[in-house]
Amino acid sequence: MSDITFTLDNQFTATFVADEEATNYPRQVMCAYSFVQPKTTTMPKLIASSESVAKQIGLNEEQVNSAEFLQLFSGNSLLANMKPFAMCYGGHQFGHWAGQLGDGRAINLAEIVTQNNGHKTLQLKGAGPTPYSRTADGFAVLRSSVREFLCSEAMFHLGIATTRALSLSLTGDKVVRDMFYDGHAKAEQGAVVCRVSSSFIRFGSFQLPASRQDLSLLTQLVDYVIGRDFAHLGAPSPEVYLAWFNEVCDRTCKLVVDWMRVGFVHGVMNTDNMSIIGETIDYGPYGWIDNFDLNWTPNTTDANGKRYRFGDQGEIAQWNLFQLANAIFPLINDAEPLQKALNKFSQNYQQQWQNMMAAKLGIELSAKTSAKLPTEPSTELTTALASEAEIKLFVDLEDILMSVETDMTIFYRRLADLPDDKSLWLSHLNVCFYDENEISVTYQDTLSSWLERYSKLRDSGNKSRGEISKKMNATNPKYVLRNYLAQQAIELAEQEDYSLLHQLQQVLTKPYDEQPEFERFAEKRPAWAKHKAGCSMLSCSS
Ligand code: AMP
Ligand code: MG
Repeated sequence: MSDITFTLDNQFTATFVADEEATNYPRQVMCAYSFVQPKTTTMPKLIASSESVAKQIGLNEEQVNSAEFLQLFSGNSLLANMKPFAMCYGGHQFGHWAGQLGDGRAINLAEIVTQNNGHKTLQLKGAGPTPYSRTADGFAVLRSSVREFLCSEAMFHLGIATTRALSLSLTGDKVVRDMFYDGHAKAEQGAVVCRVSSSFIRFGSFQLPASRQDLSLLTQLVDYVIGRDFAHLGAPSPEVYLAWFNEVCDRTCKLVVDWMRVGFVHGVMNTDNMSIIGETIDYGPYGWIDNFDLNWTPNTTDANGKRYRFGDQGEIAQWNLFQLANAIFPLINDAEPLQKALNKFSQNYQQQWQNMMAAKLGIELSAKTSAKLPTEPSTELTTALASEAEIKLFVDLEDILMSVETDMTIFYRRLADLPDDKSLWLSHLNVCFYDENEISVTYQDTLSSWLERYSKLRDSGNKSRGEISKKMNATNPKYVLRNYLAQQAIELAEQEDYSLLHQLQQVLTKPYDEQPEFERFAEKRPAWAKHKAGCSMLSCSS
């Protein structure tokens, strides 16, 4: 028997008062959620699934390949006791308060109990309009769904906190999109991704009731999140609220440092896209760094201000946390400890960034301290501090990587095998450069003297070169979801060829391993992809 059953535990809908209006039309909602039915699809087809997510929620291969699975996770049928709902939240978009946003095209099917008494929410993205769809249609196109599916799974296998993706299905229906908002609308294939996380609650979930002076809903939400996902902090009280805010700061800090480590640019760090449990959420116009560039953003909607550029993600995270602090202020009524937590975020960020750079470079930081950070962090935090010379080494490297187009991912992998013979250094690193004409004599001198300083620091620890490079390769992925590869997978998928999608999914399950059969996926971005739509330019249209 392959019947699909889950142990349901719909705590969110059991806790909060539902929107009374049952008809599905765009409106302002003064509650935490609205019940809503997914739209029936014409001819659903499963094109990808994640074995490990399936396993996590107790489904075997036979069940994943069943007709029942397809109907359920494309939105065509429900299991007993599933009462789907869309959540209400607000947010700051590109620095401006946008009021109510909400799940405009995400529908939660149910909360389920997992092994070891964990909990997960199963959510369909692209399953049709909700009361929060505003002027949009509630659907998602194949290209953005492929990107969400592949990237969330890649992120998980990189060891970075993220929502997961169980399945990717075509709906068989067409969705009209104007990809660059330039009057070239076309009908694209519709798709649904089933996302899985312990919580889809966002910073904006708290901001909305706070903006409406609904202290009762705000308090209920904070208490709910603490009880559900931060239970180790204890029963809610002003002290626990503060401890909770500190932990949200810590988790967010760790998340962004991880993004910086692997070269991920989220692209739309609006407060409605910030997970309260510190996961990467809402994969839209994100991108992966090919040539190292702190000023790069893939999001054409953000091309002017580049608010969400690669190098500013830490500061933006702090800005978003500041908005969260403002929202929860009425529960604490004391600005000072909140301000302190925000200041601590900067310190933590710097310290964790330094530790991350040291790990990338295989350096053991010189100044060791076992001092715990002011609040008891739940996430792993740093215990080492960098010296001035080490910090200078890190910062100088950024300048060097920015000065000529250098592939970030390849650079760090090559650095792990840097030959001892200095005369071979440049030829060893040559493969990282995008344009040989940029490699001037001055540049070569700067790079060589940096490598000289670097290798001295690297060798001053007591680990062997073998151990060091092993550690570096466990920090620096060999395979990331390069923008052009995702785009190639999409273009083939649009022609009903899912082979590259499946290959990428497979290779990205072991991003730190050498996989000689997949060497092509570790190569530099080809020249044709540099300015191609979808490869380096993406918009919010999805
Ligand atoms: P994003 O910045 O993509 O996370 O989206 C911002 C807001 O727009 C969220 O409330 C989304 O649910 C909503 N949204 C985005 N795309 C659609 C769509 N196609 N239909 C309905 N709502 C959407
Ligand atoms: Mg969003």
